[in-house]
Amino acid sequence: MGTFAISGCATGIGAATRKRFEADGHRVIGIDLRDVEIAADLSTAEGREQAIAETFEACGGRLDGTVLCAGLGGHIGNNAMVASVNFFGVADLLDGFFPALQKGEDPSAVVMCSNSAQLVPDAGTLPLVKAMLARDEPEARRIADDECTGQLVYMLSKNAVGTDVRRRSLAWGDAGVRINAVAPGPIQTPLLQGGLDTPGIGDAIREFKVPVGRWGRPEEIAEVVAFLMGPHGGFVHGSIWYVDGGADALTRADRF
Ligand code: NAD
Repeated sequence: MGTFAISGCATGIGAATRKRFEADGHRVIGIDLRDVEIAADLSTAEGREQAIAETFEACGGRLDGTVLCAGLGGHIGNNAMVASVNFFGVADLLDGFFPALQKGEDPSAVVMCSNSAQLVPDAGTLPLVKAMLARDEPEARRIADDECTGQLVYMLSKNAVGTDVRRRSLAWGDAGVRINAVAPGPIQTPLLQGGLDTPGIGDAIREFKVPVGRWGRPEEIAEVVAFLMGPHGGFVHGSIWYVDGGADALTRADRF
């Protein structure tokens, strides 16, 4: 059985993923603000370094996989923090865990993107995405606070995460480590509830059309993650899997 580091597993999708992996007999090293093995704040560079160092200690420098779920919704009222957790909290952990993953058995990584990643036209040309991909955290935080709404920061952070995952496909493939992203639609978790409870955002979420006629459950995302991480997903690499009840197909049927 393998050893997997999962961020953001105190609640929501991360918690469901943890449960799914533990049901298969795997060992999970959880990383979150609280209620897990490694309590760390991924919104700061120090917190991310601590999370990486403590994970290495816990796994003996060898990981079979990582699932990065920690994230914040655009409704929280702290745009810089959303930028830091959603992008740098993923990219830094991927960099940090890479040496340990290379020593794992059939190693792979899955990160949480979002179906909203493609809702902003030409997102890759926008300054926030460019600052994130250039790993300029102070500039990304400044742009997020000064020039963006919270929802825009959320969507652009997920766009940057998707690009970062895809850009890793050659180097990670060469090293024998698969990496993919899952792009969920609305999933019933505390993050979604926070948006629903926020005036001006809740109605937009409620009006967002999902072709299958319902929102998703965290367990439905965990099941896809388990497939992508396991042997049956062995040829899936550098991909972004939309698990969103058809919402992405509805918004851009002819672009894929
Ligand atoms: P959630 O709020 O249930 O879980 C997010 C977890 O991240 C929490 O346990 C939280 O404590 C942790 N976290 C937040 N800030 C942190 C920090 N500074 N340091 C460490 N941990 C921190 O939300 P969820 O819906 O399960 O979201 C999981 C991922 O899926 C997120 O990246 C989110 O953006 C993405 N996502 C969710 C939805 C949805 O509708 N729920 C849709 C698309 C994408």
